[in-house]
Amino acid sequence: MPQHKIFILDDERDIGEYIAAVAKMNDFESHYFFKADDFFTAIASTPLACVAVDLQMPCLDGIEVLRRLAEMQFRRPIIIMSGMDLKVLESARHFARANKLTVSDIVSKPVRVEELNRVFARLKANAHLPPTKADFVEAMARGEFSLHLQPKVAIQPDHGGPKGYRPVGFEGLVRWISPAKGLVMPDSFIPQIMAAGLSAQLSDLVFDLALATLGAWKEKGIAASLAINMSASDVEDVALADRLWNRCAGTGIDHQRITIEITETAAMEHPETALDVLTRLRLRGFSLSLDDFGTGYSSLVQLQRLPFAELKIDRSLISDSISSKQTQIIVKAIIDLGHNLGLNVVAEGVEDEETLELLRKCGCDLVQGYLVSRPLSPERAEAWWLEHGGPRD
Ligand code: C2E
Ligand code: MG
Ligand code: MG
Repeated sequence: MPQHKIFILDDERDIGEYIAAVAKMNDFESHYFFKADDFFTAIASTPLACVAVDLQMPCLDGIEVLRRLAEMQFRRPIIIMSGMDLKVLESARHFARANKLTVSDIVSKPVRVEELNRVFARLKANAHLPPTKADFVEAMARGEFSLHLQPKVAIQPDHGGPKGYRPVGFEGLVRWISPAKGLVMPDSFIPQIMAAGLSAQLSDLVFDLALATLGAWKEKGIAASLAINMSASDVEDVALADRLWNRCAGTGIDHQRITIEITETAAMEHPETALDVLTRLRLRGFSLSLDDFGTGYSSLVQLQRLPFAELKIDRSLISDSISSKQTQIIVKAIIDLGHNLGLNVVAEGVEDEETLELLRKCGCDLVQGYLVSRPLSPERAEAWWLEHGGPRD
């Protein structure tokens, strides 16, 4: 049974160790911290079930502890421990709530073992505990991750057909079908996978799913390209191109059909390493797309140096482009910039005809969005391709 982690911060060693021991007896993996800085560094990189913090420490007062947790956007339950009077503790609870923190329990000192047992039992019964690293490893081994596919269509020139666009390919978006939680969307589990140090494992798995999808399409003559998303840590792995290339070996798949999407933020974080990693991917024949453009901070010089073939305008800009003249000017400027740098430009998150027409007028090459189709299961994606006259081999 995988264990849930709890981190405990208390400046009194005997109390901290005692709470850690009771947590262990309740099947938690507990770690006790004496120094606040070590505690905060550790939480930043570990998926946790919850924390227990002392509100009365000589180096850092309790409100400061809560403020730092709020700044980190800590969203797990917090157990507050303190010898202060109940009124002060209730004020701390209000402060926490106002800062979007969840105080699950207030335990007054001296702490009694029966009370701690009750608190831990309640936590375990709470279905919202986050998955542990072991949960993810098991979920991957059990094949609980799959790709849903969202069509990408060309809108230039106007094809005149009923919708005026032409299918080009799909973007594969990962989904976790958990037996306990049902369908889990990437925004809620990818940060946890990254924090668990499993992002390379996820990317390899997604890449293998993409190869399997292309294999199935090859059999059926579906000539679609397929884009997949990689995370920031992949762009820091200088062996990424070889890692992916080796996975293609012997599959008989034309890997030139695969586009790798990397967010603007990930590509610009370590520009020198990104240049190395991305150039090697290009040399291996993978196509590259700069995702969520317009939300991060790009250096235009970097943009021109990095070997992208495609730029995807973030959906936050697209959704505002009808209502805001300013945003429209920015979108048009991005399309022109992309074209001047020799890039294909994709708009993501297109939800209505009016936006599609505006983008067509601005010269945008491709679109993705609910207007065309939501992400589809692999079977529905194949049917969509055939219904919409997508190219066949
Ligand atoms: P993204 O790569 O920018 O993907 C587009 C997201 O926008 C998808 O959400 C998609 O379902 C959603 N979307 C598409 N059209 C529309 C629309 O018209 N309106 C609205 N409101 N939303 C639309 P999803 O699938 O939840 O993915 C969220 C993000 O998770 C992705 O953003 C990507 O950054 C990340 N992600 C997805 N799959 C993977 C993966 O396999 N690996 C990694 N590292 N990240 C992934
Ligand atoms: Mg993407
Ligand atoms: Mg995107």
